[in-house]
Amino acid sequence: MNRTVLSSTLNTSIDPQCGVCSARFSQPATGRPQVYCSRACRQAAYRARQTVKHALAESTRLRDSLYAIRLEFDAASRHLAATLAVRDSVAPDAPRQDLGGGWETEVAMSAQQLRLLADRIHETVNDHSQIAYRYRSAGRVLRTGTELTRS
Ligand SMILES: [Zn+2]
Repeated sequence: MNRTVLSSTLNTSIDPQCGVCSARFSQPATGRPQVYCSRACRQAAYRARQTVKHALAESTRLRDSLYAIRLEFDAASRHLAATLAVRDSVAPDAPRQDLGGGWETEVAMSAQQLRLLADRIHETVNDHSQIAYRYRSAGRVLRTGTELTRS
């Protein structure tokens, strides 16, 4: 029988596959069973696990932050709508004592607050998108699902 075929058949059935690069490697005769083929792959897996851990924590923080911003946004948009409603409650053709000034400043300030909150939502979502990308990249390094939960 062809030696290469025999060897690869044996390797497939016996030798473990590296958790990072998928290479088959020989388990050392003594000591703890190895999961990775080399020191480099073991370090890559460690870094990936750290990235995953960090990404999970960052994701939680950003989503908490987004929730708080949403509450502020809700309140600010209701305030803006209410401010505009007060202005609208005066019929357009009603005789005016004056121009009804004053509401512009409040509407402008309220609209500005909404814009700042929208900017914060935008930034937070962008940050989360980057975190999610790093999380997925790290997940690809750790091919097996069990590695993701290891600390
Ligand atoms: Zn490897």
